[in-house]
Amino acid sequence: MAGDDPKSALFLCALQNAVKHGGVPQAGAVIGMVMGTHPELRSRAKEVSALAKEAIAEVAALSVDERVARLQADAPEQYTALFAKHEHRKGLPDLEGAEHGVVMRFAPNPSGPLHIGHARAAALNDAYVKQYGGRYILRIEDTDPKRVDPDAYEMVKEDIRWLGLEITETVTQSDRLPFYYELCRELIGRGGAYVCTCDNEHFKELKQAKVACPCRDQPVETGLALWEKMLAHGFSEGEATVRVRTDLFNPDPAMRDFPVFRILDAPAHPKKPDAFVYPLMNFSVVADDHLLGVTHVIRGKDHIANTRRQRYIYDHFGWEVPVYRHYGRMGIEGVVLSTSQMRKGIDDGVYTGWDDIRLGTLRALARRGISPEAVKNAMLAIGIGDTDISFSWDNLFAENKKIVDPVANRYFFVPDPVTATIAGAPHHVAHAQLHPGDAARGVRTLAFEGSVLLPAAELRPEVTMVRLKDLFNVNLAWDGATPSFAYAGDSLADARAAKAHIIQWLPAQEAVPCTLLTPEGEMTGACEPAVRSELDKVVQFERVGFVRIDAVSEDGVRAYFTHK
Ligand code: GLU
Repeated sequence: MAGDDPKSALFLCALQNAVKHGGVPQAGAVIGMVMGTHPELRSRAKEVSALAKEAIAEVAALSVDERVARLQADAPEQYTALFAKHEHRKGLPDLEGAEHGVVMRFAPNPSGPLHIGHARAAALNDAYVKQYGGRYILRIEDTDPKRVDPDAYEMVKEDIRWLGLEITETVTQSDRLPFYYELCRELIGRGGAYVCTCDNEHFKELKQAKVACPCRDQPVETGLALWEKMLAHGFSEGEATVRVRTDLFNPDPAMRDFPVFRILDAPAHPKKPDAFVYPLMNFSVVADDHLLGVTHVIRGKDHIANTRRQRYIYDHFGWEVPVYRHYGRMGIEGVVLSTSQMRKGIDDGVYTGWDDIRLGTLRALARRGISPEAVKNAMLAIGIGDTDISFSWDNLFAENKKIVDPVANRYFFVPDPVTATIAGAPHHVAHAQLHPGDAARGVRTLAFEGSVLLPAAELRPEVTMVRLKDLFNVNLAWDGATPSFAYAGDSLADARAAKAHIIQWLPAQEAVPCTLLTPEGEMTGACEPAVRSELDKVVQFERVGFVRIDAVSEDGVRAYFTHK
């Protein structure tokens, strides 16, 4: 027991701490942890504190990989605990009126594939439906033919499948035009809307001046007749608009008699080529939230003005208003998000496609090896607060690392390789673990037959010794800028004493060409042959970072950089 052997408790504590934080802990932290878990040692404080220094020194003498291997062997449960999901994430706040289940929706416009900005609404609504039970509707909002990309219908569905949302039903608004037309008839009939044939500019001037346009007072019968005329194509684009009667004295001019239906003669809608009367989003959103029984709407703050407009429509119909939550803005830097900019870049050949590594689409993240769970977890961690924030890629990467680190196999990738023939070295087969925390996964065998590939960046004139990981030490002698290499024994202690970097390497005779695409550009190099068997998987290139193996061919391997 620890009482008899405080040293081993201290050692394991220091080891776990070092593996967790990537550095050797302070004595105080280790003593505190051990005293907390082993109160019987409190009476032996002096002895414990002396032993703590020894234990920490032993941990410090181990390499990072050795620490992991040791912790795995000596205290597997403490090792696994490091990867346990952190359940202490603050839960999402309760939604009022959700006790008996919810009906929620995710309502993207099919103008391109989904990007990281969409993921917040998608993930939050999904999480609430899971929490309270109910229905989760995917509503494709395609009533603006100018903003429809025919390919996006399928892309959006693929992206949702990838994210793993539990969608219970899907509706497409362009299939629902007859519902909207019927409801418009009803709204006009209730005196809640009128058909306005004023010139748009003239209407704007009147609106600014809080003055009713001549159409506002039209009798209901006239409004209904004009509406039928609209539907019969008796007006052309711009000649007639349906407006909601709101409050001409509303301090915000954007609330005054806003439009809800318009005529568009072009472009033709890709799904409904004969359509020309379209609801504007405030109408179709209200109609569908009502018709589909949506109980709770979670959307961004940029919709607050729409919520105010939409209330006028609810009031005219006498419908119950759903519960709204508007989360704050989320600035996202470092990737291209604008659909039009992305499309232009793809058309111009600047980007290779919607999954180009420089774009913020979900498919680009998938291609980089970001898992959908990481995206959802990162979004749930951000939550529904209304403070504006900037999206942290580091948090997303940290979420992803929790998922990929325990499963990713380790391999050597040598960027910018230099061939080194090592004088005096015996032939040797190196065994390197596929995963430092899981010996059962086995080893990669790398045969040293005289020459290796080494990363050029590690071979600088001031470097006189390197250790080839899992192999041996190498001395470097420099003739000007040209190094020569000589075997320098197997002792890890020697390498440590010489402060030699422990570097990745490859047997020259079996290295496979490998290109690594990063957001900063392309790295060329070579990797182990076994990487060929990891197509579509995330692996760790030791000392470089996690990567997703994107393509394997006769010519070699192409990988996408995920994160450090
Ligand atoms: N289609 C709208 C959008 O993508 C969402 C509408 C809503 O959430 O009410 O901005």
